[in-house]
Amino acid sequence: MFKKILIANRGEIALRIIRACREMGIETVAVHSTADSNSMAVRLADESVCIGPPQGKDSYLNIPAILSAAALTGAEAIHPGYGFLSENAQFGRMVEEHGFAFIGPTPDHIDLMGDKVMAKQTAQSYGLPVVPGSPGGVAEPEEGLKIAKDMGFPVIIKAASGGGGKGMQVVHDAEDFIERFTTARREAKANFGDDTVYIEKFLGNPRHIEIQVFGDTHGNAIHLGERDCSVQRRHQKLVEEGPSPVLADHLRAEIGELAAETIRKMGYRGAGTIEFLYEDEKFYFMEMNTRIQVEHPVTEMITGIDLIAEQIRVAAGEELSIKTAPRFRGHAIEIRINAEDPQTFTPSPGKITQFHAPGGLGVRFDSAIYQGYSIPPYYDSMVGKLIVHGRTREECIRRMRRAIRETIVEGVKTTLPLHDWIFQQPEFVSGEYTIHWLENKLKER
Ligand code: ADP
Repeated sequence: MFKKILIANRGEIALRIIRACREMGIETVAVHSTADSNSMAVRLADESVCIGPPQGKDSYLNIPAILSAAALTGAEAIHPGYGFLSENAQFGRMVEEHGFAFIGPTPDHIDLMGDKVMAKQTAQSYGLPVVPGSPGGVAEPEEGLKIAKDMGFPVIIKAASGGGGKGMQVVHDAEDFIERFTTARREAKANFGDDTVYIEKFLGNPRHIEIQVFGDTHGNAIHLGERDCSVQRRHQKLVEEGPSPVLADHLRAEIGELAAETIRKMGYRGAGTIEFLYEDEKFYFMEMNTRIQVEHPVTEMITGIDLIAEQIRVAAGEELSIKTAPRFRGHAIEIRINAEDPQTFTPSPGKITQFHAPGGLGVRFDSAIYQGYSIPPYYDSMVGKLIVHGRTREECIRRMRRAIRETIVEGVKTTLPLHDWIFQQPEFVSGEYTIHWLENKLKER
């Protein structure tokens, strides 16, 4: 097992990785920008190294600085967290070329799944059902229009290298197609440096259901059940839960086995998530994320398995600690707490003047904030995750509502009031919501 791990990330995920390392007896190195000198990760890690100025491109994306910090501190492995360099195959390659272990899949698998067109073709070749759409990338607007007309509107135009819910265009009729197509290509180029786009049928009322998978280098491949992430705004997840309130046990077992079988055939190592849209009891593959995800605690709560520890074990060449799908216990729900105005969603960085974390039975709060901490304006606005676990979904909802109300964050605005409202909506409480529900509901608010 590794003696020392460098964490190439910040915020709550850096802290989460430190926690796993500490329980495993592994030392940690936190790298940080000048804006994060006072962060909790820097304070709690065994060592820290400043790697550059605030902007992500100069610090958390600065590969030479990160590799130098690893060499300097004698770290043996690098955990990239999520976001930043976590799905950058070039980074994975450089980490390995410099003699460190990369806590993630092989760079080739990152490349394969990072191109969403290739990922879809691969998924299909392994027998996963996919969303109907163009067979590959589409370059010509007229060609795209023909595909869209044949498939029938509405369609969604997506960037092959896209991520984070960005670079997608929904088109409802043929007149708008050419213009939207051109915009999509331009935005794909600007945001992801690649103007390849592809077209999919836009599903009317699907849910977003994703399967957590795990593989090791000994041929073991398992699934750890699903997370339902249908509560979204602008294609970004706000609430995640597991098990899905609408998925029958036999369908879970079926899609789970299919997902595990896919990564077994791929020879995939480490944590991954296979994302599907789910409509009328059918699954449609969307993409695979080759990293740990923000919502991984949902799976941890219903399986009791520390997913970060498993990632580290796999990267160190050990076997997964479990070899088959575990028994799922109870229900778990996570909310993402963003430092944003809950009405307008504009970011609200600044100093936290008062803070009290929620607690009690079945409550978990994953965050790096503290009283007196200043949320820097340079990074993602997510400042914490509140996760509850209970015997039933109803118990979780009651628990979440009381936990939200005992969380005190003052000095900055947060999305807590929005969550308080979501958990009172009858559609959410009944579990009868789709990926379009929240946005439509917000319009009525
Ligand atoms: P990203 O990698 O940017 O997160 P995804 O492909 O995972 O992009 O899609 C993000 C979200 O966009 C989905 O969770 C869903 O809400 C919506 N979406 C994507 N594809 C479709 C589709 N074919 N029909 C309807 N909604 C879609």
